[in-house]
Amino acid sequence: MTERLCLVHYHEIGLKGKNRATFENQLVTNLHRALSVFDISHVGRVSGHLVVETADHRATEELAAAIRRVPGVARVSLAYKCGLDDREYVTAAIQALGEAGEFSSFKVHARRSSTTYELHSLDMNRLVGAALCEAFPDKKVDVHHPDFTVVVHVVQGSTYVYAASAPGVGGLPVGTAGKVVTLLSSGFDSPVATWMVGRRGAICVPVHFSGRPMTSDTSEWLCQDVVDALAPAGIVGRLYVVPFGERQREISLAVPQSLRIIMYRRVMMQVSERIARLEGAKALVTGESLGQVASQTLDNIAAVNEVVTIPVLRPLIGSDKQEIIRRAEEIGTYDISCQTAPDCCTLFMPRRPETHARMDQVLEAWESFDHEGMVSDLVENVEWRDFSQCPSYHAPKGTLREHHRELQPFSGAER
Ligand code: ATP
Ligand code: MG
Repeated sequence: MTERLCLVHYHEIGLKGKNRATFENQLVTNLHRALSVFDISHVGRVSGHLVVETADHRATEELAAAIRRVPGVARVSLAYKCGLDDREYVTAAIQALGEAGEFSSFKVHARRSSTTYELHSLDMNRLVGAALCEAFPDKKVDVHHPDFTVVVHVVQGSTYVYAASAPGVGGLPVGTAGKVVTLLSSGFDSPVATWMVGRRGAICVPVHFSGRPMTSDTSEWLCQDVVDALAPAGIVGRLYVVPFGERQREISLAVPQSLRIIMYRRVMMQVSERIARLEGAKALVTGESLGQVASQTLDNIAAVNEVVTIPVLRPLIGSDKQEIIRRAEEIGTYDISCQTAPDCCTLFMPRRPETHARMDQVLEAWESFDHEGMVSDLVENVEWRDFSQCPSYHAPKGTLREHHRELQPFSGAER
């Protein structure tokens, strides 16, 4: 019986020995979770690929599309799986090429991973090629630059046949690169920055600073929508929300107006660093892009960065807004980020923010309020919501409850 399944290709560069097994095992785990809405019967390894099979043996384009969004996936082919009978795989090859889309040329690439199979790959090429020439008499064979290559791969008693494949998001399986805390607003940049480090294999734990109680909690809901939108990539384990409004008011009363934003940011960085230590995360991530707004000059980045010792990653630092927006559209966060909601960034904003902060003035302002007490208090009152999309996420041992005072459950969770 001919079955339809998805063949998953991944980049093998740098994947050797133990690394390779770790990578493949993690990708299998992540695919199981990402595809939980499909009736998957098997995800497993077959000679340098992964195969994803459904209980009804009828994998669809919709399943292939979901697989393509999982980090670590380089390409996906909707393939036919047949037995070793040549009539069966010749028929599958004709079907695969017929469905592949517009083309004027093709070639056949036959491979045998089981050398016990009676036909040599050259004979298989000839056999399948002749049948395809007969089925598509107006198309040319082009062995150098064909529009489609029909792959016929004999392995472990089965034959896999496909002609088309579409690119996946690439990168590395989430869980192979440790954990990061990402500073997440509902703007365009930080969801994209989060996705980018997630695509490189990092488990992401976003922290959102809300203006509550001075603003509504709309920005918190938008951040949850962002995390839901990122679910197909499976990168987020837990979202933290820090109600920051009261503290911002205190800062705004204590420091020169032009330095307010830098003070808010320094507090945000220290709170995030504390959460990172509790989580066992090894870096912070922001969506800053050089010179995009007043707070993102080199001087101001230095004035904020100075307050933490953990590495701060800025995956978008060299990106233009248009590139960021294009990526936001691809990953499904664009429409969420188009909705504006007041968050801590819109609260108590100065009329003329400092663009080139001087460090002596920054330090003087920093000492003018009890920043240590403020950071501890904010960490103690942090709220969170867990998401099940990331199978490798493990909450901190003993949970935050034992490290800190009783925590409020995150109100947005009941929405
Ligand atoms: P974004 O599009 O991500 O909101 P932005 O262009 O608005 O960024 P800034 O307001 O300068 O730029 O923010 C720079 C970075 O600081 C953001 O990308 C994000 O990582 C972090 N950040 C900003 N606001 C918040 C917030 N309310 N909560 C958590 N992190 C934030
Ligand atoms: Mg913003």
